[in-house]
Amino acid sequence: MSLLRRLPQVSSLLESKEAASLAKSHGRELVTEAVRGVLDGLRAQIKSGENGVSEDALAAPAILARAAAVLEGASRPGLRRVINATGIILHTGLGRAVLPKAALDALVAENKGYNLLEVDRETAERAHRERHCAKLLERVTGAPAATVVNNNAAATMLCLAALAAGKEVIVSRGQLVEIGGAFRVPDVMKQSGCRMVEVGTTNKTRIADYEKAITPDTALLMRVHRSNFAVVGFVEEPSLEELVGLAKKRNLRVLDDIGSGALLDVARYGITPEPMVAASVAQGADLSCISGDKLLGGPQAGIIAGSTEAVALCRRHPLFRAVRPDKLQLVALEATLRLYLNPDTVEDTVPTLRMMKMPLAEIEKRAKAMAKALHAEVWDEESQIGGGSTPGQNLKTKVVAVDPGAKGADAVIVALRLGEPPVFARVQKGRVLLDPRTMQDGEDDEAVAAMKAALGR
Ligand SMILES: *Cc1c(COP(=O)(O)O)cnc(C)c1O
Repeated sequence: MSLLRRLPQVSSLLESKEAASLAKSHGRELVTEAVRGVLDGLRAQIKSGENGVSEDALAAPAILARAAAVLEGASRPGLRRVINATGIILHTGLGRAVLPKAALDALVAENKGYNLLEVDRETAERAHRERHCAKLLERVTGAPAATVVNNNAAATMLCLAALAAGKEVIVSRGQLVEIGGAFRVPDVMKQSGCRMVEVGTTNKTRIADYEKAITPDTALLMRVHRSNFAVVGFVEEPSLEELVGLAKKRNLRVLDDIGSGALLDVARYGITPEPMVAASVAQGADLSCISGDKLLGGPQAGIIAGSTEAVALCRRHPLFRAVRPDKLQLVALEATLRLYLNPDTVEDTVPTLRMMKMPLAEIEKRAKAMAKALHAEVWDEESQIGGGSTPGQNLKTKVVAVDPGAKGADAVIVALRLGEPPVFARVQKGRVLLDPRTMQDGEDDEAVAAMKAALGR
């Protein structure tokens, strides 16, 4: 019991000079809480009879130092940078697309004070907040009009509500997809106030199926891209051109939910082509929707491109105000879109594209350097594009394969996640793998240090 009695009083600790200086940065309340927490911890440790509570640990300076460390840890951002060593380029859990440097710079520079969000500086009149992005989108997609909302789920809902609320929307049974969470096409239709009319089968839907389902109540034909899975074998579905042809003949509109939304043909990276917005627009879809943070490689956003008249219907719909993007998204999206104006550099300036394009030789060189520092091996593996795009299609990569020793791979993975900075890696055949492809500039050294700490070396 003598150890317990030696613990200083909270009040005397708080009166110290060290506590006063901590209170200046963290506030009195948090300092009191931290000091109490450290004292409670020591008390519990002493009572449980654990050894290792030294006399020094009970002295005021040691207690205040521990409280300072607790405060320091708690004041770090919860939503913080992590090292993605999983090799999944669009990792939804880790924030999807890595923002281009131009977007990061613009986020700070254009948001330091006020900005031109909704004022036209020539006339001083109110203007649409997404007008700058829209102009760039019209240019890169070839669409006569475009607008931006908070994300693509919102874009899809808004388009359905604006073009077909209270009416019938025809969609193939092969496209009744779930994108993730509660985003399932049948539910989205219902929430948008549309009546879904399913046609065809899971694997085969023909243009005649759509044609037969048209009634006086039909407003829209919808196509949904199967972003996150593939149907192969005995399959058939009409092309977008056929849908547009039918819609024109019957005075209907066509909505194309593309999702992944490549602005650049990803076939160049050796994977199956993803549908491109420009093609969808050129083939005559009234509206095409894509995500800002999938293959486009920008911030979270929902992009709607299409005819002037259909885009105007979206802008005028009451839902539009509820799903509008904020100025941070718009500044980052504008900066990202601007990078696409230079096709010679866009694959270097947009990290998502850079990671897809990264030569195997460069990955191998980095893997070898890390493997050397960690006494690990280099293995052939595959990186994934991820993020609800290019299902089942992987890119060849080289990974660092670390032997976790007696500690075991699962324990090392946890230690990596809880380290500073947190590192996300994967386990294969008992080894902990680091894929350089998704690690950003300067993160190789950080990951090596984090791995050494996690291994206890
Ligand atoms: C990803 C995706 C969505 C949802 O987009 P978010 O930007 O994640 O809201 C909708 N439809 C399709 C086809 C998608 O691939």
